[in-house]
Amino acid sequence: MRYIYLQPVGGTGEGILHYLCDRLGRIYTYPCRIAPSDRVPEDTYEPGRGQYNAAGIVEEIARGMPPDAEKILGVADVDMYAPGTNFVFGVAIGNASVISLVRLRPEYYGERGNEPLFKERALKEAVHELGHTFGRGHCPDVKCVMHFSNFLEDTDIKSADFCRVCLDKLVDRGYVKPYAPERD
Ligand SMILES: [Zn+2]
Ligand SMILES: [Zn+2]
Repeated sequence: MRYIYLQPVGGTGEGILHYLCDRLGRIYTYPCRIAPSDRVPEDTYEPGRGQYNAAGIVEEIARGMPPDAEKILGVADVDMYAPGTNFVFGVAIGNASVISLVRLRPEYYGERGNEPLFKERALKEAVHELGHTFGRGHCPDVKCVMHFSNFLEDTDIKSADFCRVCLDKLVDRGYVKPYAPERD
């Protein structure tokens, strides 16, 4: 049996990890597991920006991939950047990927906390980055989970579901279960 692993990065809460694992396990054909220990690759921290280099985190967690991992997704509670950007919600390189939760919380923008909204955003970003690791590129359909999120508004507009084109490709290859999950 091979698994999708979630790798906590930087003190990620148990609640969000279990939520994502449960939901991802209903979408992808590989069951989900949570890696037992947290990793914070301190050498990817850029003090001048107060952010971590997303690609550096991905490379680090790729090196620590369990032998039975088909894919690995870092779930980071630290802010991340990629060179040439102010921030990134997520990055995927090969079989490994990472999302950052920091900018998905309404509180980050001075708004009132909203746990269901936060979880839904995290799920969209998680499905999206794993979609990249399973070979899907960005999708022009703004409602498709594989649409690129430049801003949080993009994340809120898109759904947690694949569009029909993306879904058919992923189902054909055996990566995603035949039916799109119901939207909340
Ligand atoms: Zn993307
Ligand atoms: Zn699509």
